[in-house]
Amino acid sequence: MKLPFALAKRFVAGEDLKQAIPKVEDLNSKDIKITLDLLGENVTDRETADETVDEYIELLRSIEKAGLGSTISIKLTMLGLDIDYDYCKQNLFKLLDVAREEDQFVRIDMEGSDYTQVTIDLFKEAFKKYGKHVGIVIQAYLHRSKNDIPELAEMGADIRLCKGAYKEPERIAIQNMPAIREAFKEYAKILFEKTTYPRIATHDDELVEWTKEYTTENNIGKPRFEFQMLYGLRQDTMEELTREGYNTRVYVPYGTMWFPYFKRRLLERKENIWFILTTMFKK
Ligand SMILES: Cc1cc2nc3c(=O)[nH]c(=O)nc-3n(C[C@H](O)[C@H](O)[C@H](O)COP(=O)(O)OP(=O)(O)OC[C@H]3O[C@@H](n4cnc5c(N)ncnc54)[C@H](O)[C@@H]3O)c2cc1C
Repeated sequence: MKLPFALAKRFVAGEDLKQAIPKVEDLNSKDIKITLDLLGENVTDRETADETVDEYIELLRSIEKAGLGSTISIKLTMLGLDIDYDYCKQNLFKLLDVAREEDQFVRIDMEGSDYTQVTIDLFKEAFKKYGKHVGIVIQAYLHRSKNDIPELAEMGADIRLCKGAYKEPERIAIQNMPAIREAFKEYAKILFEKTTYPRIATHDDELVEWTKEYTTENNIGKPRFEFQMLYGLRQDTMEELTREGYNTRVYVPYGTMWFPYFKRRLLERKENIWFILTTMFKK
């Protein structure tokens, strides 16, 4: 059964780039930068993966043509990671060739824990060749992040730090929120110390306030990092942070394959389920 897009509208900017562009322009007009994400994951055939690479390349070129203040985020399983490592690498490098040519930036989103090691391996190979044109995401809830964060920070990697969105077992990830927040803060401190421009991705007031206090106390200037949030969540907070002089970026997903992303957003917060239910029953 195909669910109507109206359900996902709160979190997804459109079913194609044309529908997403006005939302990007509106946020850009408020001095908020964007990361565009063409939704989809776990592609299992080469034809679809090849088409996806072409769509991502087209997206990079469209951003330039439309004069948008945006970079892009991708998922390696969209580029064929489930099919073959070398094939996925070839696709990633093809995309990064264009990113370098356009002086653009591609962030590799972090997926479920089955993909963590292989994503970091591929990122390291890409970083060696493409440097500032590629970045990665680290999830604070993973136990292994206590090793990954220092190692990647030491390399000078561009890191988005988030809590982590996938359901993971206890042996792999911290399960309770106060401990996840503490890990997040510890990793953010390392990023502030070792990297040039940390990306703090959270809607959590406690972490936003902590970041503001920590950076003020340690003389880390507002231009040296950015806050990131997801499209449809806490736009008022984003606008306020921007007015206060912080760099801000909204992750704007679009595309027809919105269901897995939408489901993660629903499961994250019961208020989101309530919001969608009331939308469904409204005329
Ligand atoms: C830009 C960006 C990129 C991301 N990329 C990835 C990725 O690559 N891989 C991945 O696994 N995950 C990613 N995530 C998702 C992330 O891992 C979390 O699942 C998600 O952000 C929820 O955690 P949170 O810290 O935002 O706050 P939550 O844990 O959702 O909320 C914590 C607290 O924040 C406050 N809060 C949150 N939302 C609201 C609201 N709407 N109104 C009022 N208070 C609120 C409440 O006090 C709440 O209890 C990304 C998130 C962002 C923002």
